Amino acid sequence: MTDRPTPDYSTSMRTSRCGDLRADDIGATVTLCGWVDRVREHGEHLVFVDLRDRSGMVQVVVDGGHELRSEFVLQVTGEVRARPEDTANESLATGMVEVEASEVAILSRSEPSPFPMDERTDVDEVLRLRHRYVDLRRSRMQRNLEVRATVNSAIRGAMEEQGFIEVETPMLVASTPEGARDFVVPSRKVPGSFYALPQSPQLFKQLCMVGGVDRYYQIARCLRDEDLRADRQYEFMQLDAEASFVGQEDVLAFISHAVSAAAEEVTGERPADIPRMTWLEAQERYGSDKPDTRFGLELVELTEVFAGTEFRAFQAPCVKGIRVPGGSDTSRNRLDDLTEQCKRWGAKGLVWMKVEADGLNSPVAKFLSDDEQAALRAAMAAEAGDLLFLVADERRQVRHVLGLLRLELGRPPVTEGGLNFLWVVDFPLFEGLDEAGNPIPAHHPFTMPHEEDLELLESGDLLAVRSQAYDLVLNGWELGSGSVRIHRAEVQQTIFTLLGIGPEEAQAKFGFLLDAFRYGAPPHAGFAFGMDRLIAVLAGEENIREVIAFPKTQSGADPLTGAPTEVDGRHLEELGLRVLPPKQ
Ligand code: ASP
Repeated sequence: MTDRPTPDYSTSMRTSRCGDLRADDIGATVTLCGWVDRVREHGEHLVFVDLRDRSGMVQVVVDGGHELRSEFVLQVTGEVRARPEDTANESLATGMVEVEASEVAILSRSEPSPFPMDERTDVDEVLRLRHRYVDLRRSRMQRNLEVRATVNSAIRGAMEEQGFIEVETPMLVASTPEGARDFVVPSRKVPGSFYALPQSPQLFKQLCMVGGVDRYYQIARCLRDEDLRADRQYEFMQLDAEASFVGQEDVLAFISHAVSAAAEEVTGERPADIPRMTWLEAQERYGSDKPDTRFGLELVELTEVFAGTEFRAFQAPCVKGIRVPGGSDTSRNRLDDLTEQCKRWGAKGLVWMKVEADGLNSPVAKFLSDDEQAALRAAMAAEAGDLLFLVADERRQVRHVLGLLRLELGRPPVTEGGLNFLWVVDFPLFEGLDEAGNPIPAHHPFTMPHEEDLELLESGDLLAVRSQAYDLVLNGWELGSGSVRIHRAEVQQTIFTLLGIGPEEAQAKFGFLLDAFRYGAPPHAGFAFGMDRLIAVLAGEENIREVIAFPKTQSGADPLTGAPTEVDGRHLEELGLRVLPPKQ
């Protein structure tokens, strides 16, 4: 951890901050500024005020002549004194002292707060966002913003320590190819033309490499018009990085250092070296390309066990299972719910079995031979009292369903289980085929195939081609991804062709990149990860909105400013735009 000197918080209006006062300060005369958290009347002539600022809270004793209410802004001068022993408050950092006010000035009055300020009350999120300026005063938000600033600064420090320089790339760009919908901005000078807001600085950072900036980074704002969820906002911050004359190992080392530094700065503890796993192993063992490795419940391969089975439901290309130790007391209702869930995720069914000392208790046990039952118990290391879940189907489908079931059964809350960073490597180059039979890039079209798999590009087994792409996962959240890039125009052209992007389209969309590659492009590789997600996990929040000062709601609105709003007709006219009536 870096030990920075404590800043001097005194100003022309205050000598100290509320939350900083300690027993050492007893006897000192201080001037504090802050918000009234709570007022407690003590008889006619005495009022206790909890005064709050960014640093915390302190009790102030005021005589009864003032009209004080919650959220008023005060300036208080007085002497710090010890609280009578029986009134000390151990849960408060300043709980040993109080300030006996000799002067109280009301700097600003407040209407009654739109919601209670204490942390225990659950307040409707729209109401919180509508009055975010009040919400931000709450200690949880103050702490989260502080974690955020700490992470930003640690990441900057770590990247710069490794020789990266920050380069800012434009916000008004031509469409970028990250695969999501673009936000567009109409051009006034060229009516009918649009800028896109960047989905990421991808192409610019690759241009920086051609431009000789051999280690680039940026804490970049990225915008994607996608449906919002707990871990997604329209706009989000990425640590975006790219380096020349490097391979995958170098990038993994740079980024590992940066996230470890950030985690250490927040938690005080350096995380262990980040382990890695191939994409295939992650899929087979966890049914996910972003495995949450904080807990077990791994997927067990059972295809061989049922290779010759008479039981129709298990006559499938793949059978896998999950063992829940001691889970056999799970209620029938819960088992039915889980079965329904799995069907919603695309399973044909979910088989459950309770392991008993003398056999398996399950609606399907009678269809399995004694040998199969014994082999199943052995493969799953099952013991009496365990609960087994099995799914049979196409391999991808089995992994998908059991991967989700595993999370449903065992995923700990964000604050438990520590920080499990994991590198997932050797992603496939393509994640599937589109309706036209063209492969869909798993990352983006600039990703370099695995050297060993280059031949497969020609032989046609496209889905087996591995790429030099890697993801960083934290507690089951995909923090970010990156890859070794293609740096030769002809290889890039081959990939575009495979993706069904013809030479004309390629020229129109990325011609400038292909052009740049004709002028001496160095081999390069890079990475980007979502700062919001990292910060949320480090702050112990499930939802990234809790670590963003002014987020949008799930429906993409900003209840505070009213965005998105209409613009006036003249403005539209100037842009050459007309708004169609809403679709029925
Ligand atoms: N630009 C990519 C993204 O935003 C990351 C990368 O490949 O560097 O996902």
